Amino acid sequence: MSECFFSPSCCHIDLGALTRNFFRMGDPSGLLPVIKSDAYGHGLMPVARTLDKAGAQHFAVGTVSEGCALRKAGFHQQIVPLLGAQTQEDWNLSFTYNLTTPILDMESLKLAAQACPDHKDFPVAIACNTGMGRLGFSAHEMPDLIEGLRRYPMLKPVLALSHLACADMPDETIYTLAQQERFKSMTNALRAFFPTLARSLNNSAGLQNLPDSQYELCRPGITLYGGNPFAGTVWESKASDFEWVMSVSAPVLQVRKLKAGQSISYGRIFTAPQDMTIAIIGIGYASGFNRALSNCSDLLINGRRCPQIGRVCMGMIMADVSRLGATEVGDLAWIIGGQPEPGQRVVTAQELAAELGTISYEVLCLFGMTNRRVYH
Ligand SMILES: *Cc1c(COP(=O)(O)O)cnc(C)c1O
Repeated sequence: MSECFFSPSCCHIDLGALTRNFFRMGDPSGLLPVIKSDAYGHGLMPVARTLDKAGAQHFAVGTVSEGCALRKAGFHQQIVPLLGAQTQEDWNLSFTYNLTTPILDMESLKLAAQACPDHKDFPVAIACNTGMGRLGFSAHEMPDLIEGLRRYPMLKPVLALSHLACADMPDETIYTLAQQERFKSMTNALRAFFPTLARSLNNSAGLQNLPDSQYELCRPGITLYGGNPFAGTVWESKASDFEWVMSVSAPVLQVRKLKAGQSISYGRIFTAPQDMTIAIIGIGYASGFNRALSNCSDLLINGRRCPQIGRVCMGMIMADVSRLGATEVGDLAWIIGGQPEPGQRVVTAQELAAELGTISYEVLCLFGMTNRRVYH
């Protein structure tokens, strides 16, 4: 490879684990796997190729641009750009590349119709707002929408989408139930005119926990990549058998001694309580290792956990390797994943997310976007 990389750290993507996660979700014909945002940082094209081989028949991406890239790469699947098309140009591309782009409002209905030469059918999706409060038509707008669709007979609604705001939250089941009910009544109204319209409501959490709203298509995202949408809740075991797809490694750059009383890194937030052996490791906040993890996460080196110490730098972190056997320059520190020795646990994206007060989705996206990736 002739590219130049700014960090020696690396994302390892286990495409076998991705395939196994996908197979755990049931019949591919009922799945619209979500590969937006560069497949949650795992890489759009390698993930799409892997899911294609596993039998995927549909893909959900974020932008029209991602959808066009997939089509140009030869993918034949139904492709749904979840963010819709904002410009006439994007609607024209949606038509040309046969993307199933959601109509979000009456304005986008008009743009969609204009993208489509007379008498040609243009399959489109309908975004329904059932309680997320983001994109799409609300229940009271259904009559206007249906009238608009009848005015533009070239537009063929083939899919209705809505998104659950808290399907992962045991305390919010009443809200989720209300969203399910709203979606049912909105799609019933649409199906009175478009009887073959497919429906899609469930995300990963819904797919694992809401059998009443599977409909024709579910849209799993995080579970494809091994994350558990219920992490930290009483529902955790409902999605605990997925495998992490991404691991992140970084090499030891130097090993040094730190004498009792000496400090390390910016701000001197760590001072050695006794003589220590320290490894300097080549990853930092520019490569997704959040600076807020300073002094409060672990790494796996040579199969064993050791504490990260001192302020996280742009391209380096430090670890206390005093209790490990010999640690050498070039040894790999595993930021997430790796092979633990018996009795040791890997660090997971979920563990880092919990420490940071965020979700594994963000941790995966940031490591994936800022590191070179290798595929196994
Ligand atoms: C991201 C996204 C999903 C997938 O959500 P997960 O929680 O990752 O399963 C599904 N639908 C829409 C509209 C999304 O934006």
